[in-house]
Amino acid sequence: MTDIVLVGAAGRMGAAITLAATESSGCRVVAGVDPIAAASGDTRWSQSLAAAYRKGTVVVDFSSPSGAVASAQFCAANGAPLVCGTTGLDAAAEAAVREAGARVAVFRASNFSIGVAALRQLLATALQAVPKHWDIEIVEKHHRLKKDAPSGTALTLADDALAARGLSRDALRHGRHGVVGARTGAEIGVHAVRGGTFVGDHQILLAGDGESLEIRHVAEDRAAFAHGAVAAARFVGSAPAGVYGMNDLLK
Ligand code: NAD
Repeated sequence: MTDIVLVGAAGRMGAAITLAATESSGCRVVAGVDPIAAASGDTRWSQSLAAAYRKGTVVVDFSSPSGAVASAQFCAANGAPLVCGTTGLDAAAEAAVREAGARVAVFRASNFSIGVAALRQLLATALQAVPKHWDIEIVEKHHRLKKDAPSGTALTLADDALAARGLSRDALRHGRHGVVGARTGAEIGVHAVRGGTFVGDHQILLAGDGESLEIRHVAEDRAAFAHGAVAAARFVGSAPAGVYGMNDLLK
């Protein structure tokens, strides 16, 4: 049995992961940490990971960038495996999460759905198949309450495309406004749409001369991420120290 301590337990993903664990065999959420919800008087959640943690449990974090770094530091210090799905981390925070992988098993993914794993494979294949001068634009849509933009998944897709084209993150164009001039070949557009209740919609446009190609993934329910996160918790529960991702799970 894999016992999970869930950080960010009162949130949308917290609720989805709690449900997914109930539906899965061999996995259960034994405690939820959410200091913000706890401070508002909700007695279901612990104030801190230190108070909720018991030896042998796996920490699953879907909280905030500062929460993710705190979880990673706690896990490294206490020998606890970590699944981290929080997005919006800057480079230093991302490095801090991954550093924990030197001491414990850390599963890190910006998207835990099987469909997005397939989308990344399709993108790699499409970029090999079309001429190098075709333009790449990424458009993502999320619900109105999402805090970070662009989404972690859009950045992962952008990183895949940048690597395929031999470009750095300086080549990303986050939206366009004003007299920006003609598009250059050495740029990749990334556009974040916010509104309504979209769970996650990622579209990659490859535009050539007189033709274009679109590949797209739509998440309709957070269960798509939550079941992946529960599977990742089972995975890190018996994995040696290191940093793991969706490819390790899908193998
Ligand atoms: P949410 O705002 O509904 O929930 C976040 C919860 O974390 C809140 O209840 C909040 O009180 C709590 N929290 C904030 N700071 C905390 C801290 N320091 N310690 C503990 N808890 C803290 O957000 P959400 O939609 O559940 O998403 C949470 C995170 O997961 C976001 O970064 C989001 O982008 C990411 N996400 C990742 C995936 C994926 O597949 N990797 C999928 C969906 C969402």
